[in-house]
Amino acid sequence: MTIIRDKSNALQRRATQVMPLGVNSNFRYWGDEITPYVKKAKGSHLWDVDDNEYIDYRLAFGPIILGHAFDEVDAKVHAEIDQGALFAMTGELEVALVEKMIAMCPALEMVRLACSGTEATLHALRVARAYTGRDKVIKFEGMYHGFQDFTLFSTYAPVEAYGNINNPVPVPSGSGIPRPLHELIVTLPFNNMEVLDKTLRRVGHEVAAIIVEPCMGNCAAIEPAPGFLEYIRAKCTEYGIVFILDEVKTGFRIANGGAQEFYGLMPDMATYAKSLGNGYPIAAFGGKREIMSIIGHGVAQGGTFNNNKPGVAAAYATLDLLQKQPILATIAQRGRRLMDGLRKIFQGAGIPVCMSGYPSMFSFYFGVEEVSGQRDWAKADHDYYMRLVDAAIERGVMPDHDPREPWFLCYSHSDADIDETLNVMSDVVRMVKR
Ligand code: PMP
Repeated sequence: MTIIRDKSNALQRRATQVMPLGVNSNFRYWGDEITPYVKKAKGSHLWDVDDNEYIDYRLAFGPIILGHAFDEVDAKVHAEIDQGALFAMTGELEVALVEKMIAMCPALEMVRLACSGTEATLHALRVARAYTGRDKVIKFEGMYHGFQDFTLFSTYAPVEAYGNINNPVPVPSGSGIPRPLHELIVTLPFNNMEVLDKTLRRVGHEVAAIIVEPCMGNCAAIEPAPGFLEYIRAKCTEYGIVFILDEVKTGFRIANGGAQEFYGLMPDMATYAKSLGNGYPIAAFGGKREIMSIIGHGVAQGGTFNNNKPGVAAAYATLDLLQKQPILATIAQRGRRLMDGLRKIFQGAGIPVCMSGYPSMFSFYFGVEEVSGQRDWAKADHDYYMRLVDAAIERGVMPDHDPREPWFLCYSHSDADIDETLNVMSDVVRMVKR
């Protein structure tokens, strides 16, 4: 079966004349004649410009936690923007929003808003450097913290380039990242206490921050090994390093209080975006009062759009719903059914599969047994995964084409969506041979 993509392809040709790769973010280009161009979305469903309908598991790379065009959120946005979209002055709703975030997320005592996950991590890193008076940052291979230059290293290079596991080499994610920044970043394998310990003994007192996603949200949702995040916590305390938990994907998704609540973890700072606004542009970073309160006292931070009304209104309405209704529990229950169903389909077909992540955000891979970081995951059979996923997309089930990107669920995914997805996946597994 081949779906008609004539209008998508025509729009791609037109877009390619005026936008690099015909898209506004590199990740959105899947290839010529296979990249869908979208018309609209509602709830858990999305329509491309050819009117093909999909059950959406990309959810805009995660932000859609309730559903596309979710009525309660949009009503709040409309009511607020009727009174102006941007003042670059402070209003009551943003104060109430930040109070809600602090009530929900254990590690937050003070917060500043931003517009994207990239800005949130950029600001958090500056504050951590200002607080410690140190410049170096530790990040983990395969993790992604946005398009700012400081952490755009060892995100998705071929892992052979990462060097020996005991002494990794930071690999910039392309040209244009200033060479002097190579001196400021240390890249380490995730879930490896020994290498972290050895590195800290060497450079621990030069390190301002360890920034870490709670799970590898940008590499198949590989989970933290038991005790690894707690080990980072303890080592940060020992060396006076700021522990930044990048909750851009996990925040307001895996629990109301994100990974902090899920794992009972207290980072010094945390960053948010995505699910916070159900698709509207809003982000945040925050943490301990002692650290955050240096902002404005010799530490620069700002942004014209930081309290944009659509973002603030959407976030307020989204968090209000999460607080008042068992939204994330409902998503988790449907996600669990989808994960269990997929596992059964692969088992039934005699195909060993590894699954990782959480019911609201998970992935799976083939041909490897145990995966603790990007180096092991890179050995999986990505070609098979991509052929499966492309066949599913042809049949109206749309996870991302990229095997690093997890499947995301939202509150609007119904039991019928899950049933239909399992039917499609069971057909696809029968048809596409490994
Ligand atoms: N941090 C993490 C963990 C992310 O997943 C992303 C985006 N995928 C970012 C930061 C950057 O967020 P944004 O795309 O909103 O700049």
